[in-house]
Amino acid sequence: MANTSTINPFETAKQQVDIVADLIGINDGVREVLKHPKRELTVNFPVRMDDGSYEVFTGYRVQYNMARGPTKGGIRYHPQVTLDEVRALAAWMTWKCAVVNIPYGGAKGGVVCDPKKISRGENERLTRRYASEIAPIIGPEMDIPAPDVYTDSQTMAWIMDTYSMLKGYSVPGVITGKPISLGGSEGRGEATGRGCAYVIREAAKDIGLKMKGATVAIQGFGNAGSVAGNILYDEQGAKIVAVSDSKGGIYKADGVNPHAVEEHKQKTGSVVGFPGAKTITNDEVLETKADVLVPAALENQITKKNADKIQAKIVAEAANGPTLPEADAILFQRKVTVLPDVLANAGGVTVSYFEWAQDIQGYFWGLQEVNSRLERTMVQSYNDVHKVATEKKVHNRTAAYVLAIQRVVDAIKIRGIYP
Ligand code: NAD
Repeated sequence: MANTSTINPFETAKQQVDIVADLIGINDGVREVLKHPKRELTVNFPVRMDDGSYEVFTGYRVQYNMARGPTKGGIRYHPQVTLDEVRALAAWMTWKCAVVNIPYGGAKGGVVCDPKKISRGENERLTRRYASEIAPIIGPEMDIPAPDVYTDSQTMAWIMDTYSMLKGYSVPGVITGKPISLGGSEGRGEATGRGCAYVIREAAKDIGLKMKGATVAIQGFGNAGSVAGNILYDEQGAKIVAVSDSKGGIYKADGVNPHAVEEHKQKTGSVVGFPGAKTITNDEVLETKADVLVPAALENQITKKNADKIQAKIVAEAANGPTLPEADAILFQRKVTVLPDVLANAGGVTVSYFEWAQDIQGYFWGLQEVNSRLERTMVQSYNDVHKVATEKKVHNRTAAYVLAIQRVVDAIKIRGIYP
């Protein structure tokens, strides 16, 4: 794994804009707009701890670009959250929403804290105070947060309640990723993995790979990875030959039943030790002989050191940022089809959009309707990205950025500059 602790993610995000701007000829003024967050809020706020003391926490909310609509993006709780990290994540949300053509800009939030070291009560008080500090700039028509690292549907419920108390009425559309009982959507829990499975299916058609019997390796058997595995197995007839989690990996040449692996992980805490499978390392999972590789764990997994050893024909990035730019070039040259994160894991934000749309109209859809709309969005987005990649002879990541940034630029230009 690369040591990336010294890489400033916002510098990376700005470089990506420059690369695309050069490629499609975006002039300097608009380019600068794309390289600046529109609005940033830093809040320092006290929280009463369980022992009666007060502690001051710092939180951020960055709204990167709202040319295409209200901004959208998660809130993460982590000791190493920085403003530049939040800016970069907000930029990437802007491009992700534009790739799948949902009417949103991008945002992100974060609180510097160690969620493993605070009690549930402290977490609730921190969440409610952070929500009231950022309340002036969020709302269903302005900016709609969602869960991210170490925040979940309970966190979202507290934010929805706090915002609603400030307004004096219930506002479910202020946040997504809520429990279903508060206006959450059917299908949100599995949307990321499901969306990923749809784009894999479409890419396989394009390269003449039959998904029935195709072999699949999955790094990170968590929410996104296990759902993708289940759907590839149940609905497309794929053979899941390798999976891993933070404790290690397993391999079985004739495939495992991913549901049984999930049960084993629930019982024992890991996929390792699954009956009949060989134990392998996480690096071996990435390099497994399989038609499809789904990195679904961490960033910076595919580097120039192992890009040559990837045997898959399709790499579908369920995780955010698993492939370094240096590895992208190698994979492209080796004709490996990479389905970039902004496309492959956009099923999550797509169903978040559906959740918001249901909340603001107060009318809820069944699971089948959610899934078929998700499928339509993912297939269309794959085709849009593939078309740009073919026309411009670039890899899918660049194509996705070209598509997204062009859509944002079109909105900026047609709106014009106020005043
Ligand atoms: P999760 O916590 O449910 O799962 C992560 C899995 O990765 C766990 O099984 C964990 O054991 C495993 N893991 C951790 N370190 C590992 C390592 N070194 N090697 C192999 N496996 C390791 O998280 P998730 O929600 O599935 O998210 C996974 C990735 O997908 C993240 O990059 C996340 O940003 C991205 N993502 C998730 C969603 C979503 O809706 N869940 C949406 C968009 C992007």
